[in-house]
Amino acid sequence: MANGYQGPQRHEGHTARKRFGQNFLVDKEIIAQIVSSIAPKPGESVVEIGPGLGALTVPLLAACGKLHVVEIDRDLIARLHQTYSSEQVTVHEGDALKFDFSGLPAPLRVVGNLPYNISTPLLFHLADYAERVRDMTFMLQKEVVQRMVAAPGEEAYGRLSVMLQYRYAMAHLFDVPGSAFNPPPKVTSAIVYMRPLPVESLKCIDTELLGQIVMAAFGQRRKTLRNTLRPWLEVDDYTQLGIDPGERGERLSVTDFVRIANYIRTR
Ligand code: SAM
Repeated sequence: MANGYQGPQRHEGHTARKRFGQNFLVDKEIIAQIVSSIAPKPGESVVEIGPGLGALTVPLLAACGKLHVVEIDRDLIARLHQTYSSEQVTVHEGDALKFDFSGLPAPLRVVGNLPYNISTPLLFHLADYAERVRDMTFMLQKEVVQRMVAAPGEEAYGRLSVMLQYRYAMAHLFDVPGSAFNPPPKVTSAIVYMRPLPVESLKCIDTELLGQIVMAAFGQRRKTLRNTLRPWLEVDDYTQLGIDPGERGERLSVTDFVRIANYIRTR
């Protein structure tokens, strides 16, 4: 995860690139802890996003024998080709934000120490492939993980919490200090585990509308639903829904947001 750079830093002969969020994991215990929490098995379909210099790639490969990786940095791509045979590691060159994960065998296990600057858009991109995914284990900025798993009423609860909790069961596994990386980021990181919820449990008729409502409800956090959801709901609608229009979005559960979206779509 990238943050808090202090000028160019070299690691294993590679100059860490700020624009690609390159903070390489160096703490062997943390690496072992991450890989044992994933516990990959031979024959499983595993993709690592941003393998970098291979801190996670090597032990993942040792455990499951074969791996897909998606990497954007040309120097690192060249090193990956030199280090691993194409039978061991299939290198997909390019931007993970544009990568078509449907080309990889399902059920897919997704892993990555993600660059801080693309973590949120990448989580939204991956949500499009949730039906093909068995689970995802990521290193992210701790503050992002806290937002992902926050409950209604908590300060960190917001759009990211609602949109991801609608699709995934998630757990904040453990924190990782900056000292575990080279160069060390100033922020603390954390490991999050995400498992897509069964399709049958996804009750929202129109997830695009859900996204718009959630965005509006959290756009001005101090305002009540009466104000933020004015384009969609009038006083009578709140009576039908059994929701107080004087409430703020930050107090509504994921189920409430889904009920609102479905009500608007079907009334
Ligand atoms: N996995 C390695 C580790 O744990 O030491 C490297 C992690 S480093 C935080 C992020 C990695 O993601 C780098 O290798 C970087 O080049 C790569 N990366 C950055 N942006 C990317 C993108 N848009 N698509 C694919 N890989 C990207």
